[in-house]
Amino acid sequence: MGARRRIFFALWPDGPTLERLANQAALVHGASGGRLMRAETLHLTLCFLGDVEAARVADACDAAAQTGSLPGFGFDLDQLGCFERARVLWAGSSHWPDALADLAAALAAATEKAGFRIEARPFLPHVTLVRDPVAPPPEAPWSPLRWEAREFVLVESIRRPAVAHYETLARWPLRAPTA
Ligand code: ATP
Ligand code: MG
Repeated sequence: MGARRRIFFALWPDGPTLERLANQAALVHGASGGRLMRAETLHLTLCFLGDVEAARVADACDAAAQTGSLPGFGFDLDQLGCFERARVLWAGSSHWPDALADLAAALAAATEKAGFRIEARPFLPHVTLVRDPVAPPPEAPWSPLRWEAREFVLVESIRRPAVAHYETLARWPLRAPTA
């Protein structure tokens, strides 16, 4: 039995976006309690491949390349939400551009074609901010935050007790947006 690696495609915030996101996450955490995600772990998952054989990481990269040159886009993280069962509090978008949904769909299609099993969950773009919140999200402050996506990444999730740890394995640029 070979080693397995837990991988997913994601948008990772650039420096200024990360700084604003981390600042606002800390404000939310002040109101919600629970465990604040560390700044370096803040991300938006596009397509989760889960635990795959180590040798399949290269196939995931090939699949990403198959999506071709998709356009970059901007979107607003303009609301807070909560997955009650998973006990996570997140920032999400009330309206997201087709280009974001198209990118997630293209990655799902290309990886499925390469034999990866993708969950049939509907895509709901979100950034997890807090785990195990004590208070519900309406009490937390949130100002809309613009995110300009110019690339996407393949990330490995390294399981460690209590803390999430992610490592970027590869990145692909998105085209300059047309409009
Ligand atoms: P942990 O599970 O160790 O508490 P985590 O959820 O951050 O931490 P992973 O489970 O490796 O780490 O997940 C990595 C990313 O993929 C996270 O953004 C997570 O929300 C997302 N994810 C995990 N499982 C799924 C799934 N079945 N479908 C879609 N996205 C998923
Ligand atoms: Mg998880």
